[in-house]
Amino acid sequence: MKKEATNPYRLLPKVDDVLSRPDVRALEGRCARELLTSFLVEILDGWRAAIGAGELDSAGVKERLEGGDLERSLLGRIECEEKGGYTRVINAAGVVLHTGLGRAPVHPEVASVMEEAARSFGVLEVDRFSGRRNQRDDRLSTLLCRLSGAEAGICVNNNAAAVVLLLSTFAAGRETLVSRGELVEIGGSFRMPDVMEKAGTRLVEVGTTNRTRPEDFRKAKCDATGLLLKVHTSNFKVVGFTEEIEAKDLAALGVELKVTSAFDLGSGRFECENSMPLEMLGGEPLVREAVESGVDVVTFSGDKLLGAPQAGLIVGRAEAIALLRKNPLYRALRLDKVTIAGLERTLELYLDGRADEIPTRVMLLKSAEDTRADAEELVRAIDSMQGFSARLVEDASQPGSGSAPNVFLPSFVVRAGHDSWSVDQLAARLRAGDPCVFARIQDDALLLDPRTLLADDRDGIIEAFRALA
Ligand SMILES: *Cc1c(COP(=O)(O)O)cnc(C)c1O
Repeated sequence: MKKEATNPYRLLPKVDDVLSRPDVRALEGRCARELLTSFLVEILDGWRAAIGAGELDSAGVKERLEGGDLERSLLGRIECEEKGGYTRVINAAGVVLHTGLGRAPVHPEVASVMEEAARSFGVLEVDRFSGRRNQRDDRLSTLLCRLSGAEAGICVNNNAAAVVLLLSTFAAGRETLVSRGELVEIGGSFRMPDVMEKAGTRLVEVGTTNRTRPEDFRKAKCDATGLLLKVHTSNFKVVGFTEEIEAKDLAALGVELKVTSAFDLGSGRFECENSMPLEMLGGEPLVREAVESGVDVVTFSGDKLLGAPQAGLIVGRAEAIALLRKNPLYRALRLDKVTIAGLERTLELYLDGRADEIPTRVMLLKSAEDTRADAEELVRAIDSMQGFSARLVEDASQPGSGSAPNVFLPSFVVRAGHDSWSVDQLAARLRAGDPCVFARIQDDALLLDPRTLLADDRDGIIEAFRALA
């Protein structure tokens, strides 16, 4: 008898038939029927497309149906629906300021004032003593001035916004001079040349990739020059025969040429009395020194080395800050009350000599020896679980977020593996698990780095492995 080649499309089940199956009906407890329907339609459309592309024939469809692929795909969609969106993560990747994982976790006291602010009304734009209207970031400005020595401050949504506000205020329709060696791209599509274009300023590159001198700026200056900008090359290092323009030289040029000067620090480092200096991050410019250099405006991030909520902090000369405040864009970039409350409290911790309690600094300041106990405990626990192995190795964590690209912080870490899963499979299961754990994958090994663990995270990791075992 001749074997009929079945039409693979005919083998695809009807959505309604699948939905009426008892095992699928049972899923309605986890997921609304409309969603189940749309998931099924999507999955089967995918199969149909694969047939159309010649990637799936009738034998393949049969194999999928018999192998339970449809149910697995459906469960996968439901799980994504249930676990998608923002979720708390255990950062075992050892990258202290991990943009993908939300950068700086704030101090518990900061978190608690943020929660309070979110739940309630607050004095945001009124002075509680006079009852008069004021600026929402007045107090922040005061605190920033005390910390940095600047005349005034203003805060926006993030440092990218700070740079946009800066460019738009001083150089819209005009030129911005930047050293060719400082035209950086910060992760996530923040490329200086593109940002300048969007802010409506014409970029003029000055000097060469490895050397820029004050004379180069003098030559490039013309009537259309609106801003002299220095950008900290956060995420790369030009080494060898190099010369960058110093902030104080840029400031002097600004005075000489009668043009506003600004310095985008990226991270921005504060060192205070009663706090340990972040010596390993010596390459990251200090906010106070940048202000003392005399540039008119200094910008930096809230959620990088400062260890605060996401924000863009701007300090500098009073007249320059006043102009930033007058720009209508400021209204679009301003902070919300929750962030303001958290930022104020963070800056107060610095002023109170308690900076070293801030999680970001705690993590950066840990010695290798400080990471050993957690690593050993994790090795003991994981190595004793069925199917898993773990051992202690010496490795290095990273500050992250474009801060100090060539700085490595020595740590003891856990190299973990599974008898039958690949490194990627194990990593994926840890990410999808509960609690959700992000590990570091390096040279085809899965590493758990205790440097970036918060209180209780070590036990959380053990719990996550237990759930997988
Ligand atoms: C990180 C960084 C930015 C962007 O700051 P966000 O707070 O992420 O918006 C801008 N400039 C430099 C030099 C940076 O390092």
